[in-house]
Amino acid sequence: MRIGILSLRRTLYSTRRLREAALARGHEARVIDYLRCTVQVSTRRPAVFYRGRPLELDAVIPRVGSTHTFYGTAVVRQFEMQGVVTANNAGCIVLARDKLRSMQVLAREGVDLPETGFAHSVLDSQGLIDRVGGAPLIVKLVAGTQGVGVVLAGSNAAAESVISAFRQLNADILVQEFIEEARGGDTRALVVGDRVVAAMRRQAPAGEFRSNLHRGGSARRVRLEPAEEALAVRASRTIGLGVAGVDMIASPRGPLILEVNASPGLEGIEGATGVDVAGEIVDYLERLAEGQER
Ligand code: ADP
Ligand code: MG
Repeated sequence: MRIGILSLRRTLYSTRRLREAALARGHEARVIDYLRCTVQVSTRRPAVFYRGRPLELDAVIPRVGSTHTFYGTAVVRQFEMQGVVTANNAGCIVLARDKLRSMQVLAREGVDLPETGFAHSVLDSQGLIDRVGGAPLIVKLVAGTQGVGVVLAGSNAAAESVISAFRQLNADILVQEFIEEARGGDTRALVVGDRVVAAMRRQAPAGEFRSNLHRGGSARRVRLEPAEEALAVRASRTIGLGVAGVDMIASPRGPLILEVNASPGLEGIEGATGVDVAGEIVDYLERLAEGQER
């Protein structure tokens, strides 16, 4: 197959690994900077141009960064219109990027989540706090990643000040029950198609509740409980993704979904587990192209 890896930089670990995995399986593989793609929206001849020439691809692996979701997904959508197979659909990438909407969709489909509320106005902050069970609680920037913008508020007064400070900056936030029992640990499952291909347990350093590797967390390979595995696959499929990084947290009422990521980094998970995740993604693309998967 002629595979395009839609990524801004060929030197990024995940991009490099996906290209290697595709080449190792005998495919043609090109890294394509989607910001340099020009789209021809035509009824008769839709096309994507790159460096002035139409791109002829059989499959794409989108690695669209969160700052360029709008343009990146437009390019992915255009490939879809041409019948090019994609690891993740444009619409599903957009949904995964919108934390509030994806939590609503997951909740509607009965996927377990921490109790979560959000509001635009601060008029009912106390109500919001009470309804997720009161302090200690988590306040999160909807647009945050890598643990930045995730705050643990120890008291209702602290929660109220954090909420009003974020709102003053016009930031969208959500308020969530704090799962203390997780003790700074969470689980990342890499779901490809209908299967968890790799999973790691991440643990926050002492004195920190956020387990993000960027926050100094450590990771180790883990064999998932059947309930975690089923939850991860269900969450990924509910959002509609073919490739997803699903974050879960252990609670007394079972595992809960924290977030579903459409462009999961491969470095941490391949490093911790030794699994060839990039190869699994390319294998999945092959099955998609042959109509053996959806
Ligand atoms: P980000 O998108 O910035 O990674 P997350 O929602 O994944 O934001 O939160 C970052 C980390 O904070 C999680 O990996 C987890 O360790 C911790 N965390 C997040 N939400 C909760 C919660 N409700 N209860 C306990 N810990 C949480
Ligand atoms: Mg996270």
